[in-house]
Amino acid sequence: MSGGEINPTELTAAIINQKATILEGISYAQEIIDGSMTMLVMTDKGIYAARDRLGRTPLVIGKKHDGKCVAFEDFSFFNLGYERERELGPSEIVFLTADSEGTLKAPQKKMKICTFLWIYYGYPCAKYEGKTVELVRARCGKAMAKRDKGEISPDIVAGVPDSGTAHAIGYANESGVPFSRPFIKYTPTWPRSFMPPTQKKRNLIAKMKMLPVTELINDKSLLLIDDSIVRGTQLGETTQFLYNNGAREVHVRPACPPLLFACKYLNFSRSSSELDLITRRVILEREGDKSEEKLSVYADPESTEYKEMLEEICKQLKFTSLKYNRLDDMLDAVGIDPDCLCTYCWNGKE
Ligand code: SF4
Repeated sequence: MSGGEINPTELTAAIINQKATILEGISYAQEIIDGSMTMLVMTDKGIYAARDRLGRTPLVIGKKHDGKCVAFEDFSFFNLGYERERELGPSEIVFLTADSEGTLKAPQKKMKICTFLWIYYGYPCAKYEGKTVELVRARCGKAMAKRDKGEISPDIVAGVPDSGTAHAIGYANESGVPFSRPFIKYTPTWPRSFMPPTQKKRNLIAKMKMLPVTELINDKSLLLIDDSIVRGTQLGETTQFLYNNGAREVHVRPACPPLLFACKYLNFSRSSSELDLITRRVILEREGDKSEEKLSVYADPESTEYKEMLEEICKQLKFTSLKYNRLDDMLDAVGIDPDCLCTYCWNGKE
């Protein structure tokens, strides 16, 4: 493999090569690879497009009068003159040319599409399984606002840009608390902050990008929504940054439940090691050797353990209060059959 490391693309190509035809090779790769390996294989006659066995990542076909295209997200081809035709189903394989589209392998029913696409990874205007990311995020915010009704009264609601913004708009619209931008992300220089290879560099870039609007922070009670909490480092620093600029209170509302398991299906996920997760560090401190067997208790928002874990995270990261979105509310916000959604990183269910 190139560079002496295993490259997932080369590995998949090597698996496909073990069979007599490209179609048989792709089917074989779908069978033996557990994670997402949605792929495009270009030949001199056309393109094979294949979605992974359980459809963890999407694939959508576009068309215009003289051609077809295929992409992970549909908005990528709108400004090129293509319109959305249809999404591939789990395990489906099609062969596309400029003027034809043939299904080589029919889709299967069973699906486990990544729920995190809607919460964090996806671009706001993307649509998966017919559900638009921006609208799902607004519904998550709405659900969190309903759960907070009568409990807190912040001066403003803000989202950690960019993925927290739509969640925060949904919260603000439901609660009546104004949406504001107490800090702005300086975007001209750096791309998304999880791309740099080291954590130190990611943290530095995240910090350098944040610029305050002090009138919206000083002496204010803020409710801050982020898509999720992974290690907690960045959100802890953002909170400190708000206090340094005069915030009176910082209530934090992550738009998804506590992350308890590292994703084992995507190679672009936010955490690759379980001990990266702040939840797992807190559980390890509390439970020692018994941590693994008690994870399901910590995933239950009604349990004492869950509540105490939140109190500890809240204390460590110096939030005024912390309440995560609930799994049931998040799945309702997505709005497709919950059995078709992957929730492994929150509840460990495969
Ligand atoms: S484990 Fe989480 S991030 Fe990974 S595919 Fe499932 S929902 Fe997505």
